[in-house]
Amino acid sequence: MKASSFHYKTLKEAPKDAELISHRLMIRANMIKPLASGIYSWMPLGLKILNNVESIIRKNMDEYGCLEVLMPMVQPKSLWDETKRSEEMGPELLGFIDRNKREFYLGPTHEEVITDICRQELQSHKDLPKTFYQIQTKFRDEIRPRFGVMRGREFLMKDAYSFDLNEEGMNKSYQAMKECYQKIFDEIGFNYKIVKADSGAIGGNISEEFHVLADSGEDTLVFNDKDFSSNVELLDESLKKEIETKIAENDTNQIDSIYGKLSIKKGIEVGHIFELGNKYSEAMNLSVQHDNGQRILEMGCYGIGVSRIVAAAIEQNHDDKGIIFPKNISAFDCSLISINEKKSNSVREKAQEIYSFLIGNNIDVFYDDRDASPGIKFSDSNLMGNPYQIVISDNNIDKGILEVIERKNQAKTEITEKDLLSLFN
Ligand code: ATP
Ligand code: MG
Repeated sequence: MKASSFHYKTLKEAPKDAELISHRLMIRANMIKPLASGIYSWMPLGLKILNNVESIIRKNMDEYGCLEVLMPMVQPKSLWDETKRSEEMGPELLGFIDRNKREFYLGPTHEEVITDICRQELQSHKDLPKTFYQIQTKFRDEIRPRFGVMRGREFLMKDAYSFDLNEEGMNKSYQAMKECYQKIFDEIGFNYKIVKADSGAIGGNISEEFHVLADSGEDTLVFNDKDFSSNVELLDESLKKEIETKIAENDTNQIDSIYGKLSIKKGIEVGHIFELGNKYSEAMNLSVQHDNGQRILEMGCYGIGVSRIVAAAIEQNHDDKGIIFPKNISAFDCSLISINEKKSNSVREKAQEIYSFLIGNNIDVFYDDRDASPGIKFSDSNLMGNPYQIVISDNNIDKGILEVIERKNQAKTEITEKDLLSLFN
């Protein structure tokens, strides 16, 4: 992609109300555009990153045998009456009435819809086990939408639902999804923790959350050096208070507790998995024929905050110059920066040659061919956060080398053209 054909408009300043660094950088890089409180458009640059995240999720879900579906965003209220969940969800549920006076909600989650599908589709134990998933827009009328797409009202979620004949099967499906999530978050390149969690309005028994570690995280997590890890929400009140005080005092020391010495960290929830049991299958009568009778199914549900992941990646990977995207989700594999190409034919020709060479080798390169100063090109490129910057200048041409700057640490190296592709292995 050439800058001249892209929509490459960065901002010097972020809006005053954008407190979080990821929010500020996403607006400044023109990745997202606000439309209303908690509602954003994804611009070409942001969408490329969002799509990369989606692809990693989809590939891993498919590898684990999950089947992709796409359910409607609009859901009849009557389904929610069957599970009596309207009250539980409260004012986060946004509803409306159609011309025939039927009531609907904008889907905040899809347990009811998938259970309705499965009570029609799953007839016998031979249809099991099954895990369906979708990547789709959710709407929750959050009380305090903030931090950009980190806590939006409209956001993109990957939600999956498993169906098994018995608890043993459900445990297996749950463990498989936990493993799949680890593959997904490893591939994205996150530093994350898995903690015990509260199952909230979704319901069920066992539940764990995946948190990207970042000081700006809204959740507080604790762990000992063995296998105990938990969201503080689950701890008893006195321990919770003690931890809150420590955080308020910026005290990073460990804390003594009945679970041993606990470390405290802040996290951003990017994934949440639940063993639901038969909460929905019983309320909506989802059963299959088994042993001459009907057997109520055991379900699990598994969410990933797809759009939140983009913001979380920035919270975990940035510096004072801008974003440093992990290479598996960056918008482009590298930036190509030509120095004063309008004045120098040889720079322009060399940049064009390297551009065509990279494209020919399936490297997704962003070539800044604008008539702009080197300072502007570098600061925009640092903001965008591609892992490498390849610099073409008269000086480098004379030396017969290419200069490569690694975005992460700004380390400069000189390489020959024939070594260029080895950067991307
Ligand atoms: P939170 O505690 O952050 O409000 P939740 O526990 O209500 O989230 P889940 O129902 O577990 O959310 O949804 C699955 C995933 O969807 C979450 O782990 C999170 O990554 C993402 N998510 C939830 N709410 C939002 C939101 N308002 N904006 C962006 N992503 C969200
Ligand atoms: Mg959750």
